[in-house]
Amino acid sequence: METVSEYFGSLVFDDRVMKATLSAKVYGSLKKTIDEGTALDIGVANAVAAAMKDWAISKGATHYTHWFQPLTGITAEKHDSFISPSPDGGVIMEFSGKELIKGEPDASSFPSGGLRATFEARGYTAWDPTSYAFIKGRTLCIPTAFCSYGGEALDKKTPLLRSMGALNKQALRILRLFGNNTAKCVRSSVGPEQEYFLVTQEMYDQRPDLRFTGRTLFGAKPPKGQEMDDHYFGVIKPRVAAFMEELNHELWKLGILAKTEHNEVAPAQHELAPIYTTTNIATDHNQLTMEIMQKIAAKHGLVCLLHEKPFAGVNGSGKHNNWSIATDAGQNLLSPGETPYENAQFLLFLCAVIKAVDDYQDLLRISVATAGNDHRLGANEAPPAVVSIFLGDELNAVLQAIENDTPYEGAKKTQMKLGVDVLPKFNRDTTDRNRTSPFAFTGNKFEFRMLGSSNSIACANIMLNSAVAESLKIYADRLEGAKDFETALHGMIQKTIRDHKHIIFNGNGYDDSWIREATEKRGLLNYRTTPDCMPHLLDKKNVDMLTGHGVFSEAELRSRCDIMLENYCKTVVIEASTMADMAKTQIAPAVEGYAADVAKSAAAKKALDASLACSYELGVVKKLSALTDRIAGKVEELEDALLFLQKCEDIFAQSAMIRDSVLVKMGELRVACDEAETITAKSWWPYPTYADLLFSVK
Ligand code: ADP
Ligand code: MG
Repeated sequence: METVSEYFGSLVFDDRVMKATLSAKVYGSLKKTIDEGTALDIGVANAVAAAMKDWAISKGATHYTHWFQPLTGITAEKHDSFISPSPDGGVIMEFSGKELIKGEPDASSFPSGGLRATFEARGYTAWDPTSYAFIKGRTLCIPTAFCSYGGEALDKKTPLLRSMGALNKQALRILRLFGNNTAKCVRSSVGPEQEYFLVTQEMYDQRPDLRFTGRTLFGAKPPKGQEMDDHYFGVIKPRVAAFMEELNHELWKLGILAKTEHNEVAPAQHELAPIYTTTNIATDHNQLTMEIMQKIAAKHGLVCLLHEKPFAGVNGSGKHNNWSIATDAGQNLLSPGETPYENAQFLLFLCAVIKAVDDYQDLLRISVATAGNDHRLGANEAPPAVVSIFLGDELNAVLQAIENDTPYEGAKKTQMKLGVDVLPKFNRDTTDRNRTSPFAFTGNKFEFRMLGSSNSIACANIMLNSAVAESLKIYADRLEGAKDFETALHGMIQKTIRDHKHIIFNGNGYDDSWIREATEKRGLLNYRTTPDCMPHLLDKKNVDMLTGHGVFSEAELRSRCDIMLENYCKTVVIEASTMADMAKTQIAPAVEGYAADVAKSAAAKKALDASLACSYELGVVKKLSALTDRIAGKVEELEDALLFLQKCEDIFAQSAMIRDSVLVKMGELRVACDEAETITAKSWWPYPTYADLLFSVK
């Protein structure tokens, strides 16, 4: 059997393959494009395409596709075969540099939020040479960006690459000020921890709600949930272990650094974390990971649920976005260093993040906003919708010392004005105890914990990169013109701490009193839902910042705001319709049928002996009858709300009505149905219960 190191990356056209299959000249030129972003000439593209094709064919590929990430949130691909007719009636396998660099899929069926008039249906895809091509099935997949003919981004990769460019530019300016003249580029890196649930295919198939919406819309609380805390890090069951083994194998072949796997808090919940890598590659890899998880689960008779809240009352699934910035030489800019200069530089980058998170709390909240994640944020297993930063006691003490110009105890020398020449080594144990913070410093990186399990990590990182680029730009503008660098630096760090310390919170983020303090005393934003936050994408300060760094145009922002709200509305409308349907055609008839059964049995008893009271039967029938009436009434109210929705003038009004009325009616219908579930005989209930679903995988 092949060992992991033998087959790792075997389906990837990576640096090893490039070196082996390209001439030194072509390789050098491609490498320059990858590392420094220089333009690619067509001669090089032709040579790369030919080598890629030969390599792909040797691995059994027959087709190629420009693999891209439209705003639907999943990935898209249109396959073309390599074949081209030859005069003798046969075919030859062809793939040109032009085909590698640019594709022209029909864009009309992808969401564009009004950016692309339908008569201009074509968009184009452009190769992203910084993310390796790979083989999936029989297809060579070429990671690409997706734009309209006017050049507007129709995908998530384009703005992500732009945001990385912005961060690179501003971070290099800062590094030069600190005397670093050798760094060629600065990149953000991400390690996304992916949570998910596994249920059996058999149970899944019996639940229309899971099949149509990815989450259960009904389900009474099971007798045993997660209260024993016996699942987290527990022994992995054989069927799950077999799934994980095959998953790892497939991911490793694709060069994805799957590293950690364990059970999560809820029953049937698990997590997979890869080793971190450059943000755009991490994004591609996370999309692939989610796709492959579902494929492998199906092979094992399982279904992988990536929804943020598949089960009410049970922990939902998130995706922790571990983020840092580093130079091409491997220096992590969020890691305290050995010398006073390095530490001053660290503190400046740290302040840049603090300022960014505070100034753009709304953008971070927006970047994780979906109908699914709204159920999770603030629901006791995930951070609240209020953004705050956890720094840990040591770092907090350092910042306080700087703020008040008092010496920090850990400081040994005082050569620099900051007075914190020697920083303590931040031990993971002291920085990562707080699991309730939405944005926590964990020693040499920040962990953004608000992402939902199904979110593409692109959105969060676009906002994070851009907001930090903006802080760095403000710093660089000021420092480049400063007469005395150290004084200016000290002043700026001190000012950042004073202006932004209200965003730093080291306590329990799950506590209700924190939400009151955050909103009432500190004035932090609390956008509970997607319709609450999304319109703020278009606030002037946000548009100015994002367009200023060339990450989005204003038209792109408008279109994205529309698309995100549209996704929200469509998602909830599908849920509401599924609910009404299930309640009418399955739940009410089941309850009614069972009630008739019980009534029949009471009648039979009475026929035998008219003096029998049959109070049990009568009680059950009365309760069930009242519940079917309530269910019918709530279905009607929900359907009325859906009808009313059609009268809304625009997407803003529509999404607000969904928040204020449709979701409320859904909640009421659910309560009635869940109550009915607890008194209806199991043999009559049309669906597997929560207990069945959560404890089904052995
Ligand atoms: P946990 O948060 O569950 O304790 P770890 O801290 O070990 O787990 O790792 C979480 C994720 O953070 C992993 O994907 C890891 O590769 C990633 N990570 C570690 N260092 C960095 C870094 N400098 N930048 C970005 N991600 C990182
Ligand atoms: Mg973590």
